[in-house]
Amino acid sequence: MKQITVVSGKGGTGKTTIAASFAALAHNHVIADCDVDAPDLHLLFETCLKEKEEFRGSKEAVVDEEKCIDCGRCEKACKFGAIDGHTIDPILCEGCGVCAYVCPENAIMLRKKISGYAFISETKYGPMIHAMLNIAEEASGKLVALVRNKARKIAEEQGRELILIDGPPGIGCPVIASLTGVDMALIVTEPTMSGLYDLERILELTHYFGIVSLVCINKYDINKENTNQIIEFCQRNGVNVISKIPYDPIVTEAMVAGKPVVEFSDGKVSRDIGEMWDNVMYALK
Ligand code: SF4
Ligand code: SF4
Repeated sequence: MKQITVVSGKGGTGKTTIAASFAALAHNHVIADCDVDAPDLHLLFETCLKEKEEFRGSKEAVVDEEKCIDCGRCEKACKFGAIDGHTIDPILCEGCGVCAYVCPENAIMLRKKISGYAFISETKYGPMIHAMLNIAEEASGKLVALVRNKARKIAEEQGRELILIDGPPGIGCPVIASLTGVDMALIVTEPTMSGLYDLERILELTHYFGIVSLVCINKYDINKENTNQIIEFCQRNGVNVISKIPYDPIVTEAMVAGKPVVEFSDGKVSRDIGEMWDNVMYALK
């Protein structure tokens, strides 16, 4: 079984457009949307929800009113301002456990709270695992790991040969969780100076983990000078620019219609993405 993650150093490069099109072009695969803070892949597929599972990734403190003697030590000790008297605000509580440590009456317990949900859905392109982290939750790396574990389990059970992962933007913990152990990373960038900067940062990450990395320059024709700079940078660093996709408003039209662009149109963008997919598959062998 092979795994490929589509990533970008930041949001807005068109990563999901590419990932959704790959999902439509691939065969015998499982789709894993690991952008758990802002999942949007499911908006481009007609999904049928099969399973929903609570994700308990962080802890919160709770007070046993019967044991509490109102000494005020917990309120003084909490650095997050989460305690007022002996009432704990679950939004502000970071689950650090200091209040439980200082409580003379053992009146404070830490319990796991629901931080989000993981879903298994069926799409016409195959099973998809996706998730949603609750607002203000920070355990996104753990939720990405849960999504990937479920995707692997389904792939094994159903004899599927590929896990296609739509990674989160950025280079933080959830991105690392979406990249570890994969066979290849496709980095989608755009021809802006920040695009080049973000590409450098994510390549540092993929090189650190020894992951074969390919680069796709999306909307390459909006600034050909910057595109050339990205190509030169990749050449200097031995990185293969596998595709340059032109700007085309049809991509936005496809998104509005809730379809992967390769299904919505047979124009140049779709043909280029199809060609890129063939080349990615060839490189993955
Ligand atoms: S667990 Fe930490 S953050 Fe939460 S109330 Fe206790 S001291 Fe404050
Ligand atoms: S430290 Fe314990 S006993 Fe004191 S106010 Fe907090 S919960 Fe109550």
